[in-house]
Amino acid sequence: VRQIVLAARPKGMPNAETFRFDEATLPALQAGDVLVEPAYFSVDPYMRGRMNDAKSYVPPFQVGEPLMGGAVANVLESKADGISAGDLVTGNLTWATQAVVPAKGLKKIDASLAPASYYLGILGMPGLTAYFGLLDIGNPQPGETVVVSGAAGAVGIIVGQIAKIKGCRVVGIAGSDDKVTLLKEQFGFDEVVNYKTATNLTDAIAEACPKGVDVYFDNVGGDVSDAVIKNINFHARIPLCGQIAFYNTTEVPMGPRIQPMLLTRSVLMKGFIVGNYQARFGEGVKQLAAWVNEGKLKYTETTIKGFDKLPEAMLGLFSGQNTGKMIVEV
Ligand code: NDP
Repeated sequence: VRQIVLAARPKGMPNAETFRFDEATLPALQAGDVLVEPAYFSVDPYMRGRMNDAKSYVPPFQVGEPLMGGAVANVLESKADGISAGDLVTGNLTWATQAVVPAKGLKKIDASLAPASYYLGILGMPGLTAYFGLLDIGNPQPGETVVVSGAAGAVGIIVGQIAKIKGCRVVGIAGSDDKVTLLKEQFGFDEVVNYKTATNLTDAIAEACPKGVDVYFDNVGGDVSDAVIKNINFHARIPLCGQIAFYNTTEVPMGPRIQPMLLTRSVLMKGFIVGNYQARFGEGVKQLAAWVNEGKLKYTETTIKGFDKLPEAMLGLFSGQNTGKMIVEV
């Protein structure tokens, strides 16, 4: 089988030297194993963190070993109870064209309920991240202003729509005029600011949020978050979801000191990992699926075709190539 391994740990932005294409031989199936063939891979910003040799909530990738990520796969052969050839499963799989893995790490999915790739997006990790981060930490109330950065991405596009369902004014921050138009015209955002072209981002956010910011769902960090926090209201909530502005920096740059403002305005800022909510995933998926079926939650993804495009697709996340979830169709 073909596989993609981590050739060297990147310093800063990954490049051609980071990845290597390899061939591998599959082991024989043992009791409890399945042979799977991935149909879709998810590429996600957190994978960049796993390329560093650093302690985090997921262990680092090893140099010389295949990369790994969320996938939807067809079962070709099974020696496990409860899973048969022909089933569709989701789980974390190595970047290989086929794999032999223990069935216990996989979950069967039903592609008659929703397209298979949705289980990597709106009905998977990004959807649950948006749902729990916004509702549990953000606690948005009708009439409040919710700002979301990374607004046109997998998580952000769902955050904005859930905030609309909850009766909020929703302001997105995204990196292109096409994304601005799409979010306003098709995803119901009230205002969207292009952080790349705004002459003064703090003023642009102030203009888009005449009553200030009650909830800031932070996907990016950096200058964008500094500008939002300068507009933060008393008793605002900030679910700290992602800091993509820093994932490829070798040194985190110093921003304005925002703590006095958080203190005097009694702001709650709370980091979270979607895995914290594992016990409630069932509730989250059920609600997200219901909103999708009722037409209240719209979904979009950017699909890149071909196994060999996995590295390119992953790097595309850092230059904003995707609208909605970035998916690689094998
Ligand atoms: P996205 O689909 O949002 O893809 C990343 C997007 O980020 C790009 O499309 C780009 O859009 C934007 N971006 C890239 N670089 C920068 C930058 N330097 N400054 C501002 N924006 C940038 O990814 P996800 O929706 O999967 O993830 C969004 C965030 O949430 C990430 O930070 C991720 O790590 C985090 N996350 C956290 C989870 C948790 O459990 N806490 C779980 C899942 C995701 P644009 O064109 O607008 O620049």
